[in-house]
Amino acid sequence: MTAADPDTPEGVARFLEGLRPRAGKPCASCGGAICGHEALMSVMMGFQDAPRCASCLARALGVEPDGLRGGIRSSASARECFAAGWRWASSAGGCGCGDLDPSGGTRMAAPAGGPPRHDAAWDAGDLGCGDLVLDLRMKMRELAPGHILRLTARDPGAPADIPSWCGMTGHTLVSSQPPTYWIQRKEN
Ligand SMILES: [Zn+2]
Ligand SMILES: [Zn+2]
Repeated sequence: MTAADPDTPEGVARFLEGLRPRAGKPCASCGGAICGHEALMSVMMGFQDAPRCASCLARALGVEPDGLRGGIRSSASARECFAAGWRWASSAGGCGCGDLDPSGGTRMAAPAGGPPRHDAAWDAGDLGCGDLVLDLRMKMRELAPGHILRLTARDPGAPADIPSWCGMTGHTLVSSQPPTYWIQRKEN
């Protein structure tokens, strides 16, 4: 449901409205209370249906918690809706998650060239923000390790979101020719 660009003031307000009630909920894995940053991290990584604390989120993704938090802090600064979410979470204070890292994030250079092979294809239409990565996470889970998903995503944030999501989850962005992306599932 993202007819509007999520980076407009209306889109940001709607995003914050959806995020607010998730903070303070128990982690879906360990049951500990999650802070606003962890709620945001869960949305950004495709876990908005079952938010987790940073440690459990990293474990579910098979990555290091510190690397994940660092990746989130830099990629969130590139999107107005995510950046507003991080600042809102920081205004609550008391959790020590740190500030946004405005260095611009890990924009991975994807190799150009002709379209690579793919084993599955999915057209995400104009799904955006948390909805896109939530469904994308499910699609990647259905793939065999090493197989490639050809994703079509027209959300205006996708050219920034897809590379950083791949960088943080460990999947490989084989090629990026917006609105089409080829993502290879990691080996586990
Ligand atoms: Zn947890
Ligand atoms: Zn926090």
